[in-house]
Amino acid sequence: MAKILVTDPIHEDALRKLEELGEVVVLEDADEEEIREHVRDADAWVVRSGTRVTRELIEEAKNLKVIARAGVGVDNIDVKAATERGIIVVNAPESSSISVAEHTMGLILALARKIPQADRSVRRGEWDRKRFMGVELAGKTLGLIGLGRIGQQVAKRAKAFEMEVIAYDPYIPKKVAEELGVELVDELEELLERADVVSIHVPLTEETEGMIGEEELKRMKSSAFLVNCARGKIVDEEALIKALKEGWIAGAALDVFAEEPPGEDHPLYELDNVVLTPHIGGSTGEAQRAAGLIVAREIERVLKGEIPENVVNLPLAGVPDDVRELMEVGERLADAAAQVLEGRLRWVQVKVGGELEDREKEALKRAVLKGCLDRVLTEPVTMVNAVDVAERRGIEFEFTVSDELEGGEVEVVVRSDEDEISLRGELVEDRVYLTSVNGYEVRFKLSGPTLFVWHVDRPGVIGEVGIILGEHRVNVAAMEVGRRERGGEAIMVIRTDEEPPEECLRAIDEVEPVRRVELVRC
Ligand code: NAD
Repeated sequence: MAKILVTDPIHEDALRKLEELGEVVVLEDADEEEIREHVRDADAWVVRSGTRVTRELIEEAKNLKVIARAGVGVDNIDVKAATERGIIVVNAPESSSISVAEHTMGLILALARKIPQADRSVRRGEWDRKRFMGVELAGKTLGLIGLGRIGQQVAKRAKAFEMEVIAYDPYIPKKVAEELGVELVDELEELLERADVVSIHVPLTEETEGMIGEEELKRMKSSAFLVNCARGKIVDEEALIKALKEGWIAGAALDVFAEEPPGEDHPLYELDNVVLTPHIGGSTGEAQRAAGLIVAREIERVLKGEIPENVVNLPLAGVPDDVRELMEVGERLADAAAQVLEGRLRWVQVKVGGELEDREKEALKRAVLKGCLDRVLTEPVTMVNAVDVAERRGIEFEFTVSDELEGGEVEVVVRSDEDEISLRGELVEDRVYLTSVNGYEVRFKLSGPTLFVWHVDRPGVIGEVGIILGEHRVNVAAMEVGRRERGGEAIMVIRTDEEPPEECLRAIDEVEPVRRVELVRC
């Protein structure tokens, strides 16, 4: 009989379902020692965010086949250690989208009709109807930043309130927005200027951290509201406090904070035009039940030897080392190429120098698609779900064997409606080297902040770019120039020790022979 260990509270319906599958051991508030005792002979292990699933515990578990996270994020699980041991990690990515979307609508209504403030006033024995004059949502514009799972659910609900819905999401195909009746805007600035309510639904990434700061808040209408049910650090809290105090915007509702809990004397508590909730967007019985039942079903599949649907990792047993190397190069090149590409990614091609078996081609395809998508999505894009995620986003894929490439080389080509980037590379002593950018030959180790600068090959341009970096206190660690002929188009690839600030990139872009500058985080 299979042993299923549960170390965080899960919904009782899920427990009942698990009991049909084997012997269920539930540990409440267990310390690491107690977990270690029980995980040794467990076949499946269910956690939420409360248990730290460490490498040590994973290595202790001799029978473990699956670790199941009854929820979305897997930050508390050492997925790499599980993958190395061939243990499948599953999660329940869809389980809380509706709950978060409904909470978002609740916060929008609370702001529009000042419900929490009115409630507090009535409790104080007041009856002040003038102070709580509200605004209607009908006819107003909702601006969604991020049109993924939750953003889409919010859009549907806002439409029922007769709101006009616009969205900024450079990674979602236009078709998805059209089907929802949502207008996709190309620039965040446009969304901020047009929206009466701005609601954030992007993951926290290097790109989205601090995405809403002073400049963005100043662009919003003074009558507008900001809602954040995504992650606290996407909004610069200091700037938000200033905006609320000085009336740049009318109000804000936050379910998430830069630090959670936000601390006893947080300046937000003193402001009357904010509504605050303690990260409860996904906290409903339904979401918890759904998460529990989804992972119970996944455990059933694994125990029966079937393939589960929401796998976060994929044990790569059987893929030869040379193909694993191609996968590593392909994933890293794809990650860089997708960051350089302008416009919506539509098409991905991977080229290699020799024939591969179908299974190996499939593994390389998955690694490249993972590289293209992992930075922009909340759910971990893995070797297992990469193809599905790409299909859902309408991205086409092509595999080509080309005699222009050497055995260990990979070329990744990504294309949008307006741009095409091709990067070629190889692995040398465990490091990924870039060997060509859009046909310009280079030899450049991919690691750390990297600038791609397209320019016309003229004397002095390299020096000018170097001076601008120096003026912004950015140290150059390595540089390489690729060109086809003297005086023609050329590309500079520059690795820096620290990330160049936005003004520095703008200044480089203004150098006369420079045509385009892109920063890539490698
Ligand atoms: P998702 O991955 O389905 O969607 C995210 C969307 O953001 C994608 O469509 C992606 O293309 C887009 N995106 C990525 N980078 C962007 C950028 N720089 N600019 C514009 N769009 C960008 O994620 P989801 O499940 O909808 O989750 C959205 C957010 O909600 C996440 O931050 C998640 O952590 C948070 N969340 C909060 C709670 C809560 O309790 N408050 C619960 C669950 C999820």
